[in-house]
This record gives sequence, C-alpha cells and structure tokens, in this order.
Amino acid sequence: MLLDNHGRIINYLRLAVTDRCNLRCFYCMPEQGIDWLSNKELMTWEEMLRICSLVVKMGVEKIRITGGEPFVRKDIMSFLHDLSKLQGLRQVTITTNGVLTAPLVPELKKLGIHSVNLSLDTLDRNRFFAITHRDEMPEVMDTLDQLLKHNIDVKMNAVVMEGKNTADIIPLVSLTKDLPISVRFIEEMPFNGVGSHYPALNWDHVRILAAIKEDFPAIQKIPDPAYSTSYNYHIPGHKGSVGIIAAYTRSFCGTCNRIRITPLGMLKTCLYDNGVMNIKDLMRGGKSDEQLESALKNAISHRAKDGWEAEKNVVHESMASIGG
Ligand code: SAM
Repeated sequence: MLLDNHGRIINYLRLAVTDRCNLRCFYCMPEQGIDWLSNKELMTWEEMLRICSLVVKMGVEKIRITGGEPFVRKDIMSFLHDLSKLQGLRQVTITTNGVLTAPLVPELKKLGIHSVNLSLDTLDRNRFFAITHRDEMPEVMDTLDQLLKHNIDVKMNAVVMEGKNTADIIPLVSLTKDLPISVRFIEEMPFNGVGSHYPALNWDHVRILAAIKEDFPAIQKIPDPAYSTSYNYHIPGHKGSVGIIAAYTRSFCGTCNRIRITPLGMLKTCLYDNGVMNIKDLMRGGKSDEQLESALKNAISHRAKDGWEAEKNVVHESMASIGG
C-alpha cells in the first residue's frame, strides 16, 4: 500500500496522454491554443506503459486516461489495449469531450473500460459553440448514446460558469430522470492557460446546490463513495444521480488518493502544485525501475497537505496540460 506523508492512501493515477485538444473551452485554454508540446517532449506510449506498470506494482489500482483530448493522440487505442492488460490494475477509466469517441465505444467496451467521464457543459448547441468555439455538440450526444447502449457507466461533467451556462443546470439535472448517469457540476478553477486569470467564484458548490433545490426540493444527499471528490445527491424517482465537485473550494483534500502525470512526464502530487519531478527525464536519463520507484516514493512522502498549500507561488497552466 502506498501512503503519503499525511497517511493518505495513493491508489489512483491520472495520466494526461496529450496536451492537444480539438475543442477550445475558454476556461481551459485560449482560443488560439497553447504552445503545444513537440512530439519529442511528449512521453512515448512505451514510457507511459512503463510508468503505469511501475505505479501499479507500487499500489495504484485505478488509472484514468485524460488530456488534452486523449482520442486526438494517434495509437491511443493500442495503448489502452496494452494498459488494460496490466496485472493488478483494477480499473481503467477515461475522461473525454466525446467529439471523436462514439465510433470507438464498442472497442472500449471490449477492452473492459466500464466507466467514462464525458465533459459537457451545456445542452444548447449555441452555448456549446460559445463555450468551446467548435460546433461539435451532436458528436458528443452521439457518444453519450453509444456509451449508454454499451452499458458503460457515464459521469457527465459540467463546469458551472457565471453568464455562460447557469441556464443549463436544471436541464442537465433533468437528464438524470430517465438516464442512469451521474451529472456532476464542477466549480470553475483557475486553469485557463493565461496564468493571471482567477475566476471570481460566483457559483460555488453551495450556490449550485441551492439552485438545484429550487426546482427539485426533494433532492436527497446520498453517501459519497470512498475518495469521492463529489458531494452526491439523488432525486426520488430519477434513474441517475447528481454530484457537485468543490474543485475550487477544495473540501476533499483530506482524502485525496490521486497523483497526476502530465504529457511532459511531470509528476503532480496535487492538482494545484507546479509539478514535483519529471519522470520522463529520469527514464530518459537511464534510471532503473528501482530508482524510479524510490524517486516516486520520495515525492509522495513530501506531498502538500492541501491544494492551498500546494499552490503557493504557482502560476497555473492550461488544464489541457494537466488533465483535469
Ligand atoms: N478533453 C477531455 C475532456 O474534455 O474531458 C479531458 C481533459 S479536460 C482538461 C478534463 C476536465 O477538466 C474537463 O471536464 C474540463 O471541463 C475540466 N476543466 C478544464 N478546465 C477547467 C477549469 N478551469 N475549471 C474546472 N474544470 C476544468
């Protein structure tokens, strides 16, 4: 079992396989994109597989593949195939914007991927365009259909933004009436790739819940699964559930079980830190698995207590370089 210096279990890795994305969500990156990493700077699939295999041996049981948009990187399916075969890895999950995902769903199902986080901030095509700068909403809805058809668990993630999509809160919650999905609302975080931008958090988790309660007064708190980052709720008679993620308020750090690796190979022991060591550089410098393991253990034994401590003196980059 892998424990950090605060006694928290580390059993979950979020691996961002690319910084590139086919959407331009304004809260994540500037419209013109960011300074994309060159292919040489990106970790190779072999390097990623090596590090995944190592962390699984150390105690990681769940790996989430994220990005950028994971499905824009060539050969992702073959990587997922290899990853899903790792001994000891209990769960492979994916976070996607769903634009390219629909045709791949049958294969994902075959690989044993049983849960996908689908990012969708609005059910209105014009607002989708205003937020993402792309007109791809039908493709995302197609992905939702395919995931449901193939019995893959869906968590739909929506960032709540003043003046952009608060009119979508109730329609998104209403999806849970007939669909067995979890719709999760996320507080906006300061990761839009323009360093200086810090959103005024007009819509924190308390206000989001209050807005839902106005239309669904019968909504009930349900138990949160272990290590959950969301406060979870159910509306009587609905097939799905609702979650609220206090990503900015950071109320879940006390049970944080996750580490992140960016496409550059940077290990982050907190979403809000700047990266604590570059695992790709160590691998390319010829370090053995034993040396990598000891470097990882050392980093994990110096984890910040919470996201407030971790972000001291940090200028936040685009979420596409981190993986959410
Ligand atoms: N492209 C994939 C997707 O859209 O799901 C994976 C990467 S994306 C960076 C992962 C998640 O981070 C998405 O749900 C996205 O909405 C969320 N995200 C990005 N920037 C954010 C921000 N500034 N505040 C809150 N969530 C953010």
